[in-house]
Amino acid sequence: KSPVLEIKDFNVDYGLGDQSVQAVRDVTLTLHRGEVLGLAGESGSGKSTLAYGITRLLPPPGVISGGSVIYHPPGEDPYDVMALSNSELRKFRWAETSIVFQGAMNSLNPVHKVSTQMLDVIKAHEPQLSAEARLARAHEMLKLVGISADRMDAYPHQLSGGMRQRVMIGMALVLEPQVVIMDEPTTALDVVMQRQILAQLVELRERLDFSVLFITHDLSLLVEFSDRIAIMYGGRIVEEAKSADLYKDSLHPYSEGLLKSFPALRGPRKELAGIPGSPPDLRGMPSGCAFHPRCPHAFDRCSTEIPVLGVPEARNDPNRQVACWLPGRVPVG
Ligand code: ATP
Ligand code: SF4
Ligand code: MG
Repeated sequence: KSPVLEIKDFNVDYGLGDQSVQAVRDVTLTLHRGEVLGLAGESGSGKSTLAYGITRLLPPPGVISGGSVIYHPPGEDPYDVMALSNSELRKFRWAETSIVFQGAMNSLNPVHKVSTQMLDVIKAHEPQLSAEARLARAHEMLKLVGISADRMDAYPHQLSGGMRQRVMIGMALVLEPQVVIMDEPTTALDVVMQRQILAQLVELRERLDFSVLFITHDLSLLVEFSDRIAIMYGGRIVEEAKSADLYKDSLHPYSEGLLKSFPALRGPRKELAGIPGSPPDLRGMPSGCAFHPRCPHAFDRCSTEIPVLGVPEARNDPNRQVACWLPGRVPVG
């Protein structure tokens, strides 16, 4: 499968100088054309920071301190999103890669009808379209995400949270981008709604053919709907695998713990049922493998050397990557 977005050695800090903390560390991750890639990890692991960083929407004091994000437009030469000018970025953001933020449904403008807000997005990016064509496009998209004709002229407060979220998905898709990034709220949407939204995205993907980076605490959702899953811990990707492989046979002890503790995963920082202890503090990141204070398998090497993400020597499978020093999981080379 060909890549659509290649994140390479990506780093994000909050703050500058000795006051800074590293929230995303050496992340290398590829999104392939047409796939749904899930990103999971406890609260504070750096998922949103990564999503904001790669679209260059990081609010201050966030600073991208290294790395590249190579975007492959269909049929054209790839380019680095980090090198785009501000005006190029604005185009890139809706038309090539769109992002639905954590809590995005609350960012709809309360004084405008949802159809008007959808029209504005189309107008800003495709001013050559006639008013009629724009309206037809807005209505078609709202219908596609399940907003019935009689609700299209509603104001945001007249819609349920789930409907507002669907409007946001429609806005993210209306310019037919290649990539959609969805950062699911922790608490604002319940699991049933998250499930519906993800199911709908997967269905739309089949029709419109885009790729999805879906961020959630709910690993069970990812196992069900995504093609591949990446697990984040302490700002790093610690495991990457096809969903079925991760579910059947996870290689990182943290992934194992996550899989064992589905129900306790949501909500603010708290202990996971399957994993004692709490996520690391960025100001005092443990040495070596950041997971070592909580890992049931930790040994000497774990507290001194940072494991690198790679294909384990014992498995000759390029689709499986893990960052762990356990025998059989150490990467080749
Ligand atoms: P959640 O699942 O709760 O959304 P997340 O995985 O998205 O968590 P991030 O929001 O990316 O995590 O945060 C990663 C780390 O960066 C956290 O330790 C957080 O405290 C820190 N962080 C986030 N925003 C800032 C900020 N503006 N200033 C300083 N540190 C920040
Ligand atoms: Fe556990 Fe060591 Fe593997 Fe880290 S490197 S996950 S501490 S066994
Ligand atoms: Mg987040």
